[in-house]
Amino acid sequence: MTRKPSYPVVIVGAGPTGVTAASLLAQYGIGCLVLDRWAAVYAQPRAVHLDDEIYRVLARLGIAAEFAAISRPALGLRLLDPTMRVLAEWRRDSALSTNGFPQANMFDQPDLETLLRANLARYPSAELRGNVEVTEVTQRHDGRIRVTYRDRIDESEHSVDADYVLGCDGANSIVRTHIESSMHDMKFEQRWLVIDVATGADLDQWGGVHQVCDPVRAGTYMRIGRARYRWEFRLLPGEIAADFQTLAALKPLMAPWISRVHEDELELIRVTEYTFMAQMADRWRRGNILLLGDAAHLTPPFIGQGLGAGVRDAMNLAWKLAGVISGDLPRTALDSYEQERIPHARHMIRLALGVGWAMTAGGEFGNLMRRLVVTRIRFVPGLRNKLTESRTPALCGSAFVHRGRTARRLAGTLCPNPVLVDGRRLDSVLGDGFALVTTAAPTDAQRAVLDERGAVVHIASPDSELAGCLARARVTAAIIRPDRTVMCAGRDLGRICELIPTFRPHTRIRSNA
Ligand SMILES: Cc1cc2nc3c(=O)[nH]c(=O)nc-3n(C[C@H](O)[C@H](O)[C@H](O)COP(=O)(O)OP(=O)(O)OC[C@H]3O[C@@H](n4cnc5c(N)ncnc54)[C@H](O)[C@@H]3O)c2cc1C
Repeated sequence: MTRKPSYPVVIVGAGPTGVTAASLLAQYGIGCLVLDRWAAVYAQPRAVHLDDEIYRVLARLGIAAEFAAISRPALGLRLLDPTMRVLAEWRRDSALSTNGFPQANMFDQPDLETLLRANLARYPSAELRGNVEVTEVTQRHDGRIRVTYRDRIDESEHSVDADYVLGCDGANSIVRTHIESSMHDMKFEQRWLVIDVATGADLDQWGGVHQVCDPVRAGTYMRIGRARYRWEFRLLPGEIAADFQTLAALKPLMAPWISRVHEDELELIRVTEYTFMAQMADRWRRGNILLLGDAAHLTPPFIGQGLGAGVRDAMNLAWKLAGVISGDLPRTALDSYEQERIPHARHMIRLALGVGWAMTAGGEFGNLMRRLVVTRIRFVPGLRNKLTESRTPALCGSAFVHRGRTARRLAGTLCPNPVLVDGRRLDSVLGDGFALVTTAAPTDAQRAVLDERGAVVHIASPDSELAGCLARARVTAAIIRPDRTVMCAGRDLGRICELIPTFRPHTRIRSNA
């Protein structure tokens, strides 16, 4: 057995979660090795939607413009009854949100993964090794972790040692098995047919996502690219994907959307079956081994948030890990990963289950409730706003989210990303560490403390969006974390400056781009 050199971080799985985590760590100059069983991007179409928070992370990775070129903003969501009558409609603003990007964006997952991998290749400190099957993850007595893998080409066995291992290895995670974590079933399992079609013809449909609420044959339609469309239909007992491999067999399902085009104009790209599940790992960490993405949580895709949750995990963890590895943050900083991410991921899964319920709840009771509840949701102001906005819930309290009485409205939420007077967006001036956003200028002594701790100071001009955001929360200053979450807010600038952690894990390594 050949022993390979050791790495600060080994990432098992080069899906969207693993590659995002590796890229963020590389930006902090942290070396990592990413291992995946496939040499290239997994070509099967899966995710088709991401929101403006995730787009903001893509911008952080430096690929916002490339993503804009392979995606299109969507108009929102329509719930339809089995006769295609509109039960409810939530419009998403295709104009830029407070995060600086459209709220709903359609794309094809392999295209995004190709972008992510090309971007990772620009960082010399990150290495991606494909065609290898990780077979074992073992904790050693010296505190390091040994990752053993088999080369799928020549069957040779290898191992590397790591200080930290990130299990980004998807639903059947071997890393999860190693840390003796089990998936908690959130009681949802349905078989769905997933159909991808290419056509240059205009289907002449409303430009948002259509969800057909039908206890027998729930379905989803969405346009995901200039000439790409996705349908998903719940499979009935006894049906399998093999029954639907031709356009003729699919026509009864797709007829409401394709009646205006000729069959010859449609190219069937792929028809497959997926079992949609709702599950959450009961622990996401053991020591220096952590789970991210589908390895930690599985959601039915009704609100298009599975991939997004993995990217959120990566963004939440990367700076904490970089801080711990550089010695700036204590190892206990990693405790906040589970404290913050588990409740957030659970909330998003429950939201998806709610939409799933609206689409599929059966019998007369289901139909009655759909007519009564779904058609009226838009008249309930608080709920209506929740559904029309892409904003996700605030993170729970932790060492890095101080939800005291003054800060309650802001702590744990994402700081807006407005355009500043000089035309740049806030994110481009905040850097990759902690920042103080304030309407009151710090004293020289306070500035010295902030400088020493590596924090950036941004003074919001009185009539700016940021000043308004602080004023509405009745505070004058907020600490923004490296992932742009508000850590705490208040009116006592001196106290706030004291709370900023020291964080200087880099000289940030710039990509070679
Ligand atoms: C039909 C469908 C529609 C979806 N729609 C959406 C949507 O609209 N929006 C959204 O946000 N999400 C959606 N999702 C979910 C999304 O596709 C997943 O959440 C996302 O792919 C998870 O990314 P990941 O990197 O965590 O895991 P994965 O994408 O599963 O990647 C895991 C990687 O680990 C590798 N791996 C696993 N085990 C090993 C091993 N032992 N050794 C080496 N490598 C290994 C695999 O090869 C793989 O590359 C959808 C999913 C499906 C099925």
